[in-house]
Amino acid sequence: MTQTDRARKVELAITDLGSEGQGIGRAGDLVVFVPGALPGDRVEALVPGGAGPGRRFLEAELVRVVEPSPSRVDPACLAAPDCGGCQLLALSYPAQLEWKTKVVREALRRVGRLDSVEVPPCLGAPLPLGYRNKAQFPIVAVRQAKKGGGPVSLRSGLYRRGTHEVIPVEGCLLQHPTNNAVLAAAVRIASELGVTAYDEDTGVGLLRHVLARVSQDGRQAMAVFVTSQVAFPMGRRLAAALQQAVPEVRTVVQNINPRRTNVVLGPRDVVLSGPGHITDTLGGLRFRVSPSSFFQVNPSQTEVLYEVVARMASGAQRVADIYCGVGTITLFLAARLKGLEEIVGVELSLAAVRDAAANAKANGIRNAGFICGDAAAVLADMAGAGIPVDTVVLDPPRKGCEPAVLAAVLRLACRRVVYVSCNPATLARDLGILSAGGYLVREVQPVDMFPQTAHVECVARLDRRESGEGAG
Ligand code: SAH
Repeated sequence: MTQTDRARKVELAITDLGSEGQGIGRAGDLVVFVPGALPGDRVEALVPGGAGPGRRFLEAELVRVVEPSPSRVDPACLAAPDCGGCQLLALSYPAQLEWKTKVVREALRRVGRLDSVEVPPCLGAPLPLGYRNKAQFPIVAVRQAKKGGGPVSLRSGLYRRGTHEVIPVEGCLLQHPTNNAVLAAAVRIASELGVTAYDEDTGVGLLRHVLARVSQDGRQAMAVFVTSQVAFPMGRRLAAALQQAVPEVRTVVQNINPRRTNVVLGPRDVVLSGPGHITDTLGGLRFRVSPSSFFQVNPSQTEVLYEVVARMASGAQRVADIYCGVGTITLFLAARLKGLEEIVGVELSLAAVRDAAANAKANGIRNAGFICGDAAAVLADMAGAGIPVDTVVLDPPRKGCEPAVLAAVLRLACRRVVYVSCNPATLARDLGILSAGGYLVREVQPVDMFPQTAHVECVARLDRRESGEGAG
């Protein structure tokens, strides 16, 4: 391919997937990323101009699939071409799992130089669709008749790939069916009651988003109406009608978000009916979930993930669970680990720490405590004070651990580290640092928490190297 300034169509064989789930093909020396293309496809793609010499990567637009990959399946979702939320929906589920395993192996090799680490196949989810317990949809007004006039009705929508434009959809394949039912009923009833939709551009109108959350057993659901102002005169009628339409709805909350912002939830909740929260279970433990609580979105697969954490932490007596959120891993380990004396959860968010302490109490767990603070500072204090910790669990956000956190872990020099990660690249980087600092990476287990998307979750087990053991 000659590199000119004009956009042009090329035919490409797609051989791999990028970290965002885009297909990758090669045109001469150029690596071309094609969103929507899959490994095994032959595609026609529109390559943009301006690929001057020295340019090695480009993103091209998929024009058509010339010859489909044998792993292609019919996506069964009408919104798929516009939404872009499920990057892998058109890839068969076994092929998705294979790709996720490969991503982890390659990240370890490339970023962490950890070629010899064992990476068993990614653990697949029993529910590759319908698994999400939390739905969050913007609301738009749609005029029924195309040419002006006609009544306006509300629709739930989702954002067009990479934009803030809302396209109307009825629900989502990834959602628990009850969430889709709550959304559909909430939007229909709000429309009938004459509720107006908030317009992002003008700041006019009332209803911004509808949220639905559902417990793992599907028996308890919550609906949240996010409004632009406090006055919501039809709120209680709406709540009553929604509970009648979908009996699983235990509580309905109004959340007030007056700000001109992309952030969905505002600072204030008004309970319209029920207790204002639902109760969910993970591994037999009960957790309170409020409109803004952080809670893993794929509960059955979260149990699979936490079982892996428990297996890798087995034998631990004194554990520090760093980045503990509302204490789900902390309490899961407290309930599962035989011989555990004490576990301490560390978390920056005060609201999450309060929820964690309440969750410990509600489950009658006495050997778990929580510290609100920055991971690096708390770990450094523990190391400085010589607190006897034999196992550290790390579950950082996507950017991975700060260097100061890893330095403090190395100073603490505990027997084992169990690292839970949602980003193979930062995991590999951090494992490389821990490996150079005296730990042996024994195993990295990928777990599919988000089927149909390019996200990959992992749990790694590291042991402190005995003198004489080789680097790994
Ligand atoms: N382990 C939990 C939550 C993991 S999400 C679970 O499995 O559900 C990561 C958490 O790290 C968030 O709750 C976030 O508030 C917290 N966090 C982010 N930066 C932090 C820091 N510097 N110190 C402590 N906690 C932090």
